[in-house]
Amino acid sequence: MTQQYDAVILGGGLVGAAMALVLQRSGKQVLLLDKQRPSTDLAALAQSWDARIFAISPANQAFLDSLGVWPHQRNQPVRRMDVRGDSGGRIEFDVGDSGGYLNHMVENRYLLAHLWQALLEAGVVTDTQEVVGMRSDVFHAYITLADGAEIGSQLLIGADGAQSWLRHQAGIAVAAQPYHHHGVVANFATEKPHQGCAYQWFKQGEVLAYLPLPEQQISIVWSTATPEKLTQLDAEALAATVAAQGEQVLGELNARSRAFAFELVLRQPQSTIAQRLVLIGDAAHTVHPLAGQGVNLGFGDVQCLAALLAPAADIGAWHLLTQYRQQRLLPVRTMQQSCDGLFKLFADKHMPGLPWLRNTGLNLVNHTPLLKTQLMRHAMGL
Ligand SMILES: Cc1cc2nc3c(=O)[nH]c(=O)nc-3n(C[C@H](O)[C@H](O)[C@H](O)COP(=O)(O)OP(=O)(O)OC[C@H]3O[C@@H](n4cnc5c(N)ncnc54)[C@H](O)[C@@H]3O)c2cc1C
Repeated sequence: MTQQYDAVILGGGLVGAAMALVLQRSGKQVLLLDKQRPSTDLAALAQSWDARIFAISPANQAFLDSLGVWPHQRNQPVRRMDVRGDSGGRIEFDVGDSGGYLNHMVENRYLLAHLWQALLEAGVVTDTQEVVGMRSDVFHAYITLADGAEIGSQLLIGADGAQSWLRHQAGIAVAAQPYHHHGVVANFATEKPHQGCAYQWFKQGEVLAYLPLPEQQISIVWSTATPEKLTQLDAEALAATVAAQGEQVLGELNARSRAFAFELVLRQPQSTIAQRLVLIGDAAHTVHPLAGQGVNLGFGDVQCLAALLAPAADIGAWHLLTQYRQQRLLPVRTMQQSCDGLFKLFADKHMPGLPWLRNTGLNLVNHTPLLKTQLMRHAMGL
């Protein structure tokens, strides 16, 4: 017998979990499937720091707060950004004495635990069984679980990450442009206080970010063509290498985690919708992490889709899905192209005059208050 839900969501990462919570709270019956169930034990998670850290924009912080899932502990407000080019270019963003902030750094697993606690309390049904098949007709989508059970719904939501199984099953092709870089992440204790400042260096085609964390720590994201030069180092050598690349701005560093590397790829699926199916989060787009916007774009998808679906009787209706596709196209493409352009601008080591141009550009923007304010507002999701 086929069991029915309003929505079946595949993937319970930050984006899928937020989607499940919002839909369930709007009165829909949701089934959330993920291969693994994350820990919701906040006390146990607080024993160490996750090296997967996100810069959450104020707009998305407000969204998460409105859901009651914003972690009020273990977050770090960022009040200043200091971005340095490869030959003297520099741009600084500062909220000054306004009491505001540019964004907040939070840990993936700590935020995920808050979301999962809330969605379980809201009555979202969850399952870790593998999905082995999917099909759809004009009125319903169906998935088949490993035990043979078939589940029907009005809408199937793919939040199953960059390698989305659901996207593949739906036959949606993806334009994938590898950056031939990996993002290396790790956490460090710092000798000097960071004072809520995030740093970023564009050097020899590589991008290093120092992201401030509570307890005088930082998390780094280092976009590099040779990740093994970092992941194969012992803790002491890793800390010394990262401190040197960061011009010792925070003094000596002490490694607090191992270094992990992720492949960096720009992905643009040919569509984010199909009959009774919609893609959100990394399943719908990936972006270079230099602006820290991947999960912010995913939360944007959730808010857009939720606003369209909440009042609808048939949440898989084609006209709703096309509106979602249309409304998300511009913000997603703009962010993908901005990050891609910036990466390529600093990656080019050969074009004569380019280093001068890009560093002069940074200095110019730095001395143009109006443009700087616009950039700052854009980064804050305002
Ligand atoms: C180095 C690096 C740094 C980053 N820094 C930032 C940052 O500062 N700010 C920011 O906004 N973003 C950042 N990002 C991007 C961010 O990590 C992603 O955009 C975000 O995590 C995507 O969330 P998601 O829920 O869409 O996907 P995921 O987090 O990938 O979750 C997908 C879920 O689907 C599940 N799943 C997958 N396949 C299946 C299947 N077949 N069956 C069942 N379940 C399945 C997985 O178990 C997982 O739980 C960074 C990325 C990288 C690589």
